[in-house]
Amino acid sequence: MSCIYAVGLSKYEDKGVCGLKEIHDAPSLLDEKVNKLAKMIKEAKHVVVHTGAGISTSAGIPDFRGPKGVWTLEKEGLKPNISVPFNEAKPTVTHMTLLALLNKGFLHFLVSQNVDGLHLRSGFPPDKLAELHGNMFLDKCNHCERLFIRNEATTTVGQKYTGHYCPVPKPNGRRCRGKLCDTILDWEDELPFRDLDLAELNSRKADLSICLGTTLQIIPSGNLPILTKKSGGKLVICNLQPTKHDKSADLIIHGYIDDIMIRLAKILEVEIPEYKVANDQTKNIREKTREYIQDFCIEKFIPKKKITISNNDDKMNKESEHAEFKNEIKEEYHTKIEINNKEQSETDLCEEYT
Ligand SMILES: [Zn+2]
Repeated sequence: MSCIYAVGLSKYEDKGVCGLKEIHDAPSLLDEKVNKLAKMIKEAKHVVVHTGAGISTSAGIPDFRGPKGVWTLEKEGLKPNISVPFNEAKPTVTHMTLLALLNKGFLHFLVSQNVDGLHLRSGFPPDKLAELHGNMFLDKCNHCERLFIRNEATTTVGQKYTGHYCPVPKPNGRRCRGKLCDTILDWEDELPFRDLDLAELNSRKADLSICLGTTLQIIPSGNLPILTKKSGGKLVICNLQPTKHDKSADLIIHGYIDDIMIRLAKILEVEIPEYKVANDQTKNIREKTREYIQDFCIEKFIPKKKITISNNDDKMNKESEHAEFKNEIKEEYHTKIEINNKEQSETDLCEEYT
């Protein structure tokens, strides 16, 4: 349950602006705006979608800053009434539409702040996905940093030992035996380097960033769509509440995300697939620990610089330092990505997940 997730996090006073009044565009206005969004998507060359907790509320997982969000109610000493356990939640219409948009070439990269694992469970390919705050269905080895898919949501948060050891053999034939830890970030924890890096590069490359169900308050994730604007691209925000970056948006759609996605899929003539347990990687694990294979792993040769999750703009300096650092390594990284893409196209990635 997201409440358990929230309770597991350490105390953090500045949770940002919570409980703002929701705005609902009238159906005719919604149609007009979604038509405009469809046109922008058709014209764009590189589309990145950024998702937040608002896309999982229809799966029964409460958001954080909505009128009935976890942090909003916490201020009143309350907890959300409805909260479906992560193991029982299913990918929503929005999760499934995003998969279809990717397969039809209307979406090129997905950045998520969500830890609920619903993008993974929808069948979204790991190499097109950056999960900035972790995933309840992934464990990470504290030695070799490989990721493993869990068949149940983790019960720990804050990157703690989950009870298994890494089974991967080392070159000397012995097993790695590193401890497998959850991937869920606590406040001020360092973001996963590979995910943040790909999210940044794709946000800069994008000529269209679309934000779904997020008030964009958490940084650095909330500021990534602005990188698209800085590169001359467009920004679309779909959210019921006002967001931190409304002023920068070229289009703001106030509506339920599922409703927006259904209208969008219709205009783009994209069929929304049903969620199928057979395609859910967390439900079909025969072996005890199954590796979650992302693309090329940048950590291996580039020194890390600490970027932490927070709600506070005083971390902006750190972010700009990071941006400078990025420019230094950008060329080398792009070369590596190209090599990696070439290698990937030569192997059948599907084999990894069947
Ligand atoms: Zn390991």
